Amino acid sequence: MASVSESTVEELRKLNAEMAEASKLLIRKDLELTRANERLQALDKTKSEFISVASHQLRTPLSAIKWVINMLLEGDLGALQPEQESILRKGYESNERMIRLINDMLVVSRIEAGKFAHEPIPLYLEDILDNVLLGIEGLRRKKNIMVKWSMPKEKFGKVMVDPSSMHSVFENLLTNAIKYTPSGGVVSITLTRPKEREALVMVSDSGMGIPKDEQKNIFTRFYRSKNAIRSETDGSGLGLYIVKQIIAKHYGKIWFESAEDKGTTFFVSLDIIP
Ligand code: ADP
Repeated sequence: MASVSESTVEELRKLNAEMAEASKLLIRKDLELTRANERLQALDKTKSEFISVASHQLRTPLSAIKWVINMLLEGDLGALQPEQESILRKGYESNERMIRLINDMLVVSRIEAGKFAHEPIPLYLEDILDNVLLGIEGLRRKKNIMVKWSMPKEKFGKVMVDPSSMHSVFENLLTNAIKYTPSGGVVSITLTRPKEREALVMVSDSGMGIPKDEQKNIFTRFYRSKNAIRSETDGSGLGLYIVKQIIAKHYGKIWFESAEDKGTTFFVSLDIIP
């Protein structure tokens, strides 16, 4: 049997000692990383709680302002001059924007804290869409947009959805379609069944579109494309982030196709329940 030379044994011993040292170092680093991660998670939780509390606190005074302006606009404290009314309306609109922003921030903080209410029940998508269309009628008229609603002749199966969050999804997509389409444009909403167990909703518009190089960003929190900012449309960039999280919670899919100055189509796919 070949004998191992003493120098080789010594070499192996050294290597062994180095490996033992390296593995100790690795364990130490792993521990440090775990602790850093825990600290980051705690900080993130504190941040979410801060946003949640701040948003709650802001809601009360904003509602009070809304109430006061409303009283003035209704003429409860005497008739208003046209100029006074016009200025008050602007104040009212700004306040409403702030309320929308605060509400969106609250939803985001709930999503991130894993506390977003999700109580799915079986529902017909047609009913949700009908309801959303009713709600956006005022905005549609104001912008003079034609809305085309096509759905199958017969209702096909139900989907398992949380009614309130699914309402928000389509309200958001339709509001965006109207908001980012110039007056006189067309928005269409189509419900189809491409597969036995799949419901597909398409929300299309003939609006400003999303520039190609910005398309990858639009589901990111607070992201607004340059053309949207330029057009001075009001928005926070939170809507599509929220929409995407809600659809994910429903195990659905959302994607879009868009061409600048031509229009955008959002697709939402959900499972039909057996
Ligand atoms: P916002 O409050 O800005 O509308 P969203 O999260 O709903 O926020 O949308 C993010 C961005 O995606 C918008 O600011 C806009 O740039 C773009 N976008 C969304 N929907 C449309 C659409 N239908 N047409 C063109 N751009 C859109």
